Amino acid sequence: MRFKETDQLPIISPSLSPTRWWSEETVAIVTGANKGIGFALVKRMAELGLKVILTARDIERGCKAVEALRAQGLHNITFFCLDVSDPCSIKTFVSWFSENFVALDILVNNAAVSFNEINENSVEHADTVIRTNFKGPKLLTEALLPMFRTSSAISRILNVSSRLGSLNKVGNPSIREVLRSEKLSEDDIEGVVGLFLEQVKTGTWKTRGWPELWTDYAVSKLALNAYTRVLAKRYEGRGLSVNSFCPGFTQTSMTRCKGDHTADEAAIVAARLALLPQEKIQSGKFFLWGSGSSTSISSNNNVVVSSKL
Ligand code: NDP
Repeated sequence: MRFKETDQLPIISPSLSPTRWWSEETVAIVTGANKGIGFALVKRMAELGLKVILTARDIERGCKAVEALRAQGLHNITFFCLDVSDPCSIKTFVSWFSENFVALDILVNNAAVSFNEINENSVEHADTVIRTNFKGPKLLTEALLPMFRTSSAISRILNVSSRLGSLNKVGNPSIREVLRSEKLSEDDIEGVVGLFLEQVKTGTWKTRGWPELWTDYAVSKLALNAYTRVLAKRYEGRGLSVNSFCPGFTQTSMTRCKGDHTADEAAIVAARLALLPQEKIQSGKFFLWGSGSSTSISSNNNVVVSSKL
């Protein structure tokens, strides 16, 4: 794997075989894992020997997913029901987790929805999209923060996001300014999301410079990326790394099985990011799975991860 010599940040290469810092006692939670990238990521992490908690909003679908993985010889997987859009479900999950596990090492916020076909842009379900893709993951993360192991290896949060939620998709300069600020706060992010939902309600969102593709979904991921940065800053030097990752156009139900690669391929890259060796770990970054043959830093400081596995 080669890198640009001009890169200023420590380089992340997901193609390097990860130094195994984890053990069978290392605990990872993956949300929305009954299918798609989440399911593939649970499989990958279980193959690599972690203890994985597969969560899904539907008990039957979740149990079926676990059965399918057990049939492949993966027995280090536990299922618990978790609907990330429902605060009661989050509360039940977190209390079950704290009663049954000593600590948490990795949280992958993967669950998400979009109600649009690839070429559509309806915001009819904007409330649900924002609640599932941003507010729920944030609530879950905040509730789990006290559970992260801080004594040994650095714990990790990986927010599965999308390049549709990149800052350069925002046409409105004042919103861009707020989200780009070094002083960005959680209240600022909630303010941006609230403004969007208000404009959806009043039917004025179309001309306000929001991302043009899958607007509600893009705003949810924009907020998730911003939260990633704020949380990373809050935990700087305190044993917790927080990053976002866009898996690229992946063949799953969300894309009606269209895409450049499979969920298993996306999961291999996601697992490598989640399991980076301690000395290579970064925080507050947005990793994009790119098409090039080397890993590089883009102009807006995102880390473009090579697709060459
Ligand atoms: P899928 O639609 O295949 O999977 C989404 C998963 O999220 C399903 O398991 C779904 O469960 C679950 N989910 C939805 N709502 C909830 C909820 N309220 N609580 C818990 N789980 C829920 O999509 P992908 O695998 O493609 O998506 C995984 C992640 O990757 C998402 O964050 C997505 O935004 C991101 N991504 C995907 C891209 C792609 O091209 N596929 C591109 C960029 C980002 P159920 O079966 O019950 O609906």
